[in-house]
Amino acid sequence: MLNDDVPGRDRTGELCRTAWQRCAEFGVQGLPFPKAVGGQEASLLDTVVVLEALGYGCRDNGLLFSLNAHLWSCALPILKFGDDTQRARYLPALCDGSRIGVQAVTESGSGSDALSVATTARPDGDDFILDGAKTFITNAPVADVFVVLAALPGESRLGGLCAFVVERDTPGLSVSRPVAKLGLHTSPMGEVYLDGCRVPGTALLGGRGSGMTVFNTTIEWERSFVLATALGTMQRQLDESVGHARTHRRFGQPIGRNQAVSSRIVDMRVRLEAARLLLYQLAWLKDQGRRTTMESSIVKLFVSEALVASSLAAFDTHGAAGYMAGTEQERDLRDALASRIYSGTSDIQRNIIAGMMGL
Ligand SMILES: Cc1cc2nc3c(=O)[nH]c(=O)nc-3n(C[C@H](O)[C@H](O)[C@H](O)COP(=O)(O)OP(=O)(O)OC[C@H]3O[C@@H](n4cnc5c(N)ncnc54)[C@H](O)[C@@H]3O)c2cc1C
Repeated sequence: MLNDDVPGRDRTGELCRTAWQRCAEFGVQGLPFPKAVGGQEASLLDTVVVLEALGYGCRDNGLLFSLNAHLWSCALPILKFGDDTQRARYLPALCDGSRIGVQAVTESGSGSDALSVATTARPDGDDFILDGAKTFITNAPVADVFVVLAALPGESRLGGLCAFVVERDTPGLSVSRPVAKLGLHTSPMGEVYLDGCRVPGTALLGGRGSGMTVFNTTIEWERSFVLATALGTMQRQLDESVGHARTHRRFGQPIGRNQAVSSRIVDMRVRLEAARLLLYQLAWLKDQGRRTTMESSIVKLFVSEALVASSLAAFDTHGAAGYMAGTEQERDLRDALASRIYSGTSDIQRNIIAGMMGL
């Protein structure tokens, strides 16, 4: 079912709710979350291994990306920063797949400079009034629960940012139609508008002024694990490229007999092994409760670049056949390119790593 008519879904650009729900039946949306809130209480290493297996079996990269965004950028901050009431209100439905989550941070004027949000949270008695517009928001057209970053007017970034959990039917919150993009068509993306959107003080995540901490913590987790499924995607690309190179014949022999082809496939293997070890090590570090700012950026940078390189190598190995619309090779390549942008671009990861080395 996860792979039913993926090219068709890719053309229509729809998130397959049946496949989403099937993943939920297997516990995917609740993998690292406590049983008390409906999760599976898996270790992070086990979570990565399961997501890797899902990435191997599931060819719908958009579905996988939506799942990852839901897990790491919405459910995770609610787990880490939510109070008991917020956890009980949101996590069970996010874990059982009945509600879809999203994090809305990016704005047209912020992007890589994520904390310079122009969206305001104006205190009004016990409430806050949210005004602003968020862009490039994954899952927005289908989401039920939004983690929104906004700034208290006139206050500094340090103490003036707040994160809120906002529900879809809150008056003043609206969402654009899905926007068209190069890849990940089955992961709907949209803009989120906040227009005099009144939320109670109880919607604050982590307390007033905690927005920077919520964002920095969440983005570290997101960078760590958003590409766990990509390990499986790369293994599948490798297996299929090996199979194709063994059987597809040119000049009277399998193309894999040519060192140019076999070396390209060897590089796929080497990158995959390195990516897997880096990600497993990071999951182990997180299981020990460690902060992993540098390691998370290294993983995000390396695995995203490896995914793009692997997708390109698989594409090259299949020749013109892989260039045809609807083939896995062209879709994987289009889908992979976004990984160098979301959760912080490769340039930004290099900046972070350089900074951690005192450069
Ligand atoms: C598929 C996809 C899904 C996304 N989902 C979400 C989501 O769910 N929620 C959300 O809030 N956002 C989401 N985003 C937005 C994403 O976080 C931003 O696109 C990303 O942070 C980069 O911002 P930008 O696109 O504005 O690029 P810009 O910040 O405009 O950067 C443009 C270029 O300049 C470079 N650059 C900028 N500043 C520096 C610097 N200091 N040093 C070196 N290079 C620099 C960048 O690396 C890039 O090459 C998504 C994006 C994509 C592509």
